[in-house]
Amino acid sequence: MEPTKRPEACPNGSGRVVIELYSGMVYPDRCRSSQCDYCLPLNARRRCLAITLAGPQRMIRLSLLAGELDESPCKTALTRVGLIRRNLKRIGREPGEWSFTIEKNPKGTGYHAHCLQRGPSIPQAELQESCVRAGAGFPHINSIKRAGMWTSRYGLKGFGADGYGLKTFRSNGDPREALRINGGRLEHHSRKFFSLDGEPLRVRDMERAAIAEMNGAKRVAYIGCSRDRAAEIVADQRLRHALIGDVNRRTITGQRCMVAEPKQNT
Ligand SMILES: [Zn+2]
Repeated sequence: MEPTKRPEACPNGSGRVVIELYSGMVYPDRCRSSQCDYCLPLNARRRCLAITLAGPQRMIRLSLLAGELDESPCKTALTRVGLIRRNLKRIGREPGEWSFTIEKNPKGTGYHAHCLQRGPSIPQAELQESCVRAGAGFPHINSIKRAGMWTSRYGLKGFGADGYGLKTFRSNGDPREALRINGGRLEHHSRKFFSLDGEPLRVRDMERAAIAEMNGAKRVAYIGCSRDRAAEIVADQRLRHALIGDVNRRTITGQRCMVAEPKQNT
C-alpha cells in the first residue's frame, strides 16, 4: 500500500493566512484536524513538544498489546495497558504517568507500543510479571539519558512528526494508518502525564506551554487575515507595530483567564 501523500497546503483551510507580526512570516491557515493529511504531522509535532515538556524519564517498550488478527487493536491495547498498570499497583508498585502510541510490528506479528514514563523506576522483573499476566509479552525499559525532543518524537514518528532535526526518526509508515491503529488519537496518556510543575494541564494547554517554552525569549504574535491583505500588513511597519500591541493585550487577558480557571484536581 502506498503511504498517503501529504498535500502541500491544508485542503480544508479557509484560504486565509496567519502572519507572525514580529518576523513578518506568513503561514497558510489550516484546519488543525488530525484527520487532515496536511495537519496531522503538525499536530504530532505539537504533541511531541508537549510530551517533552512533561519530562519523561524512561522509555518502556510494551511488546504485545494486540495480536496480528485483532480487529480492534486499539481497544485491546488500552485494555492490556490498563491491566498492566493494575497488576503493578497490586504488587505495590506505582506505575507512574504514561504516554504511549501503538504501532504495528514490522513483521506483522501484532502491535507494540512505545511508552514514555515519568515517575518512580519500575524493576524489570516486576514490570515483566505484570505484562506477562496481562498477555502483553515481554517489556523492555530504557532510561532516557538525553533529555530532548527526540525521545518523544520516537513514538510519534509514524505520524510524520519529523523534519525538525534528527533524520534518523523519519516517518516510515503511513500517518493515516498510524492514526487508525490508535483509534484516531496521536497518543494515549494517563491522567496526570501532562503536568507542569506538578499541576496537571489539559493537553492543549500543555502544547501551548511547550511552544511558548520553545520560543523562549523570542516574542511572537500571530494574527489571521485574508491572503490579499497579508502583503500590505507585512510591508507596513507601523501597522504591524500597532497590531502587535493588540495581540499582546489579548494574550495577557487570555493568560489571566487561564490562571482564574478552577483547578481540575482529583
Ligand atoms: Zn488541515
